[in-house]
Amino acid sequence: MSGTITKVSGPLVVASGLADANVSDVVRVGSQRLIGEILQMKGDSASIQVYEETSGLGPGAAVETTGTPLSVELGPGLLTNIYDGIQRPLTEIRDATGDTIARGVEVPSLNRKKVWDFTASAKAGDTVRPGDVLGTVQETTAILHKIMVPPGVSGVVRSISGGKYTVDEAVAVVRDEKGNEHQVTMMQKWPVRVARPYKHKYMPNRPMNSGQRVIDTLFPIAKGGTAAVPGPFGSGKTVVQHQLAKWSDVDIVVYIGCGERGNEMTDVLMEFPELKDPRSGESLMQRTVLIANTSDMPVAAREASIYTGITIAEYFRDMGYDVAVLADSTSRWAEALREMSGRLEEMPGEEGYPAYLASRLAQYYERAGVVECLGTDSRQGSITAIGAVSPPGGDTSEPVSQSTMRIVKVFWGLDSSLAYARHFPAINWLTSYSLYVDTLKDWYDQKFPGFMDLRDKALAILQEEESLNEIVKLVGRDSLSAADQMTLETAKMLREDFLQQNAFMDEDAYSSYDKQFRLLRLILRYDELCRQAMDKGASLEELFVIPARERVGRAKMILPGQYEAEYDQIEQDMKSEIQKLSAGGEDR
Ligand code: ADP
Repeated sequence: MSGTITKVSGPLVVASGLADANVSDVVRVGSQRLIGEILQMKGDSASIQVYEETSGLGPGAAVETTGTPLSVELGPGLLTNIYDGIQRPLTEIRDATGDTIARGVEVPSLNRKKVWDFTASAKAGDTVRPGDVLGTVQETTAILHKIMVPPGVSGVVRSISGGKYTVDEAVAVVRDEKGNEHQVTMMQKWPVRVARPYKHKYMPNRPMNSGQRVIDTLFPIAKGGTAAVPGPFGSGKTVVQHQLAKWSDVDIVVYIGCGERGNEMTDVLMEFPELKDPRSGESLMQRTVLIANTSDMPVAAREASIYTGITIAEYFRDMGYDVAVLADSTSRWAEALREMSGRLEEMPGEEGYPAYLASRLAQYYERAGVVECLGTDSRQGSITAIGAVSPPGGDTSEPVSQSTMRIVKVFWGLDSSLAYARHFPAINWLTSYSLYVDTLKDWYDQKFPGFMDLRDKALAILQEEESLNEIVKLVGRDSLSAADQMTLETAKMLREDFLQQNAFMDEDAYSSYDKQFRLLRLILRYDELCRQAMDKGASLEELFVIPARERVGRAKMILPGQYEAEYDQIEQDMKSEIQKLSAGGEDR
């Protein structure tokens, strides 16, 4: 069906004569067939968000509905790809049309010519349901892609055979109860604004190992959990995201970039493919899908990008994989929402954002979680959603930060003053929090008994440091009691020797749980031994300069396979050095 444009306002186009169209339908606008999506219907008039530059478009031009909602293609070929917000493959488009995306260009999201080697695991005669695995394709060296029966199809497999196929050729035929035959291809289509189905959602109860000490020890995130990272410019947001992408113990990474300035996105596009997967030594892209909104795409495409990204994540989750979705930044996404809302002349809420900002954010983060996937084999998959927020001026009292903090369960507050002081990762231990600490406690207690107690103690010392610093500012350090001065020293060690972690040094970039636990134990052991010695008369000046104290400072750089014995040795030496001092103190 086709209508006629009555008004164009930036990315918003209003067209009449579309009585049969529905909200969410994709439309093609004007002679260039620009891609748009219907946001609102009033009678036969549709308000359309256009995902491409609308200059040159005017009243009278034709609008055609496709009758289908905005959807993504899911199947082999997703990994290693770089897509824009509406899943157009950027590299292939560039090959086809040059550096700037020509408007209205139609390149399929999944390559139709590429042939994949399909290995069948189901056989003719099997009864199958949505989510059942029919076979597999080795999509990249890192990932085995499971070809699943799509939602809505069930019945008996009439035929299936392994071999070489393109994504739109049928690998199996399934006959349903009514006798209808479904040609099952390796490609599924799914509307991005609808969450993909699963059997159950579970409470997340396993941590996601990030290898970053401040995260895993102080503010852990659960697999299937949600987190926000506010990142003022220069605070190390990009490095944190790269570290998470590289080291997190997930199978798949979906990175959604909604940078505002063109060069921000270019950075990601250039840098991300350079990242090496530390586990395989190959490119991280082997298990990554990148969604990038380039500077030549209008803001509207940003709005779609987070749905495109999370839908792709759900698809891999459905295979039973653990997926991390990193969205950078949700503030830019919200700004796109605000712009469209303004053009639709909706009633503005706080700071001009639409009143539904919070519910849209919630709908996005709700798609994270640990689930039992569809299919008879009861596999589990998870999506961990981590969203960067870029509040103007770093002030998190603005609506996007506030709404996000009400939804997510972990908050890693990047702090420009820490970054300025070269404390990296610049995650502020006083403002950050994790609401998963209680649910993950069982896991930690089982694997590393005592770890969580040390964590609580470390956090308490760091908090105490803050209030002692206030006193020091007023009356100077010398007026503090010896015990308080000890607290300041331990807090300093916690900050410098534990929390600071250099992403660019191989020895330090990743710490296993075991290393984190032992290192923390070593620092707090020093604190404990010093306090005992102080009671016996040892002086702080001497305690602070024992050789073992220096060695603790370098301990984080000791490699796996060596740190275990080395930490034990440091502890022993520390003990005897401190004992000597306390004995000396008693003599005096
Ligand atoms: P943002 O994306 O917030 O603007 P970046 O992530 O680019 O900031 O970080 C800015 C700089 O801070 C980096 O170039 C790097 O020098 C330093 N930096 C950030 N995080 C770390 C880290 N974990 N270890 C070492 N240096 C870091």
